[in-house]
Amino acid sequence: MNRQITTRLLLLATVVLISGVLTGCSPEELVSTSQEVSIGQQASAEVEAQYPVSRDPQLNQLVNNIGQEILRYASPRSGIQYTFRVLDVSDVNAFSLPGGWIYINRGLIDATRGNVNQLAGVIAHEIAHVEARHHADLMGRSALYGIAIGTLTEGNTTQWVSFFSELYLLRWSRRHEYEADRLAIDFMLPSRYNPQGIIDFFMVLEAESGRGRTPEFLRTHPLTEDRIERAQEHLAEQRR
Ligand SMILES: [Zn+2]
Repeated sequence: MNRQITTRLLLLATVVLISGVLTGCSPEELVSTSQEVSIGQQASAEVEAQYPVSRDPQLNQLVNNIGQEILRYASPRSGIQYTFRVLDVSDVNAFSLPGGWIYINRGLIDATRGNVNQLAGVIAHEIAHVEARHHADLMGRSALYGIAIGTLTEGNTTQWVSFFSELYLLRWSRRHEYEADRLAIDFMLPSRYNPQGIIDFFMVLEAESGRGRTPEFLRTHPLTEDRIERAQEHLAEQRR
């Protein structure tokens, strides 16, 4: 990627990070669902040009089946068609694109060691980012800060496509993470999966970090000190 584009994307990423202080408006309302879908579709093409999609039909089916089961209880937003894919990448990571593309790395599936509740927790969490319109929130905030005036002109659409497909740029805020965890637990509770799985998976990741191998998933979805505690409290409350 040329340096000028990289600099612009880093600037965009920085603004997105510092813009959490904005109050009194709903940034996500500046972005329509069809704009999210269009950006997500282009970003998914870039992701799949950069990273191999797994050809293992069983893994793809496993992830898709879990996704469909969670969606039964997430009452998905209208205009969003979810796509679940496994990338044949060993980094422990998973991510969502605006408009409902969800990618799970083979490395993350390996890290769950066959515990389907943990994998379901990750998938529910990624669905939650889409359902809560977190991608639109990032784009809307950036537009409000004037960094991408008229965010969704053609030129800016290209910027956002690059932003979402350059995985190293995305780092969700605490607020996004807490909300995605809460929603993931709510989606899982009535499903056939145990929401404790998401908390157990955090602990697996935490142990892995303790051994000096911070999984990529923790960079994009920061595990703040009280995140596990908050998720546990929410689960206990919902079960009461
Ligand atoms: Zn997240």
